[in-house]
Amino acid sequence: MKENWNGNEALMGLFPDLFSLCTNPEETVAEVWSIHGWNIVFRRHLNDWEIGRVAELLHVLNDFNGLSAEKDSIIWKHSRDGSLSVNKLYIKEVNEYPGGKPGPWKQIWRNKVPTKVKCFSWLVARRACSTHEKLKSRGFYITSWCSLCNETEETNNHLFLHCKVTTQLWNLFLGLTHTEWIMPEHTADLLSCWISRGGRKSKKKWWSIIPSCIWWCIWKERNSRCYDNKANSIEKVKWNCLTTFYFWCKEEGIEDIAQILDFIGTL
Ligand SMILES: [Zn+2]
Repeated sequence: MKENWNGNEALMGLFPDLFSLCTNPEETVAEVWSIHGWNIVFRRHLNDWEIGRVAELLHVLNDFNGLSAEKDSIIWKHSRDGSLSVNKLYIKEVNEYPGGKPGPWKQIWRNKVPTKVKCFSWLVARRACSTHEKLKSRGFYITSWCSLCNETEETNNHLFLHCKVTTQLWNLFLGLTHTEWIMPEHTADLLSCWISRGGRKSKKKWWSIIPSCIWWCIWKERNSRCYDNKANSIEKVKWNCLTTFYFWCKEEGIEDIAQILDFIGTL
């Protein structure tokens, strides 16, 4: 009853009230089921309201087809034959995006930035970067605080999209290109909108680099504040971001960055 053997959820999770009344919670399906039906024994007589719950339990168990002589095995329910393959796992767990659409993952790997930055951008877009939000979800007890603005908890979306310090970097590039923009809620959504807004229309190769550049510089600044106790001014953070952007463009041979160069020259 503690294991997910019928493909939905462990009965312990579905019926915790009844599970606590079981005489032997460790019993296996083979021990409580026979061709005559289920033989689940409770520690005491059931109250009226608990009888309804037992009816619900039996309804869930109704689909059980009986034991077979086959040896028990673990199956992966997302494939027809129950086998797990890397390809199916990728499609199911990685490539899937809310709404059933393909996620903006390919553009991360196609981006003309250093490989370590591609990997980092992937983590940010998947909300898997080691922010306080992620560490807390893994069971760490920490007092979460955004080290950039000191105003709220550090979540992935706040740090990389909505923090007032990060917003200034976004506005820097958006102002440069005179782009109207409404910031989406999630980092993956930003990537989807970002390319459709500027990448395909303008064909500017450097446009798709901007999110990775901002995220990389924000993360470095955040780590500097968290671990080295060193905070750069917002002007310095902007400068670091622009110069990083410029060097990545130069490194990858992106030439249509005259606009950026002109802007840096005015600083
Ligand atoms: Zn903040």
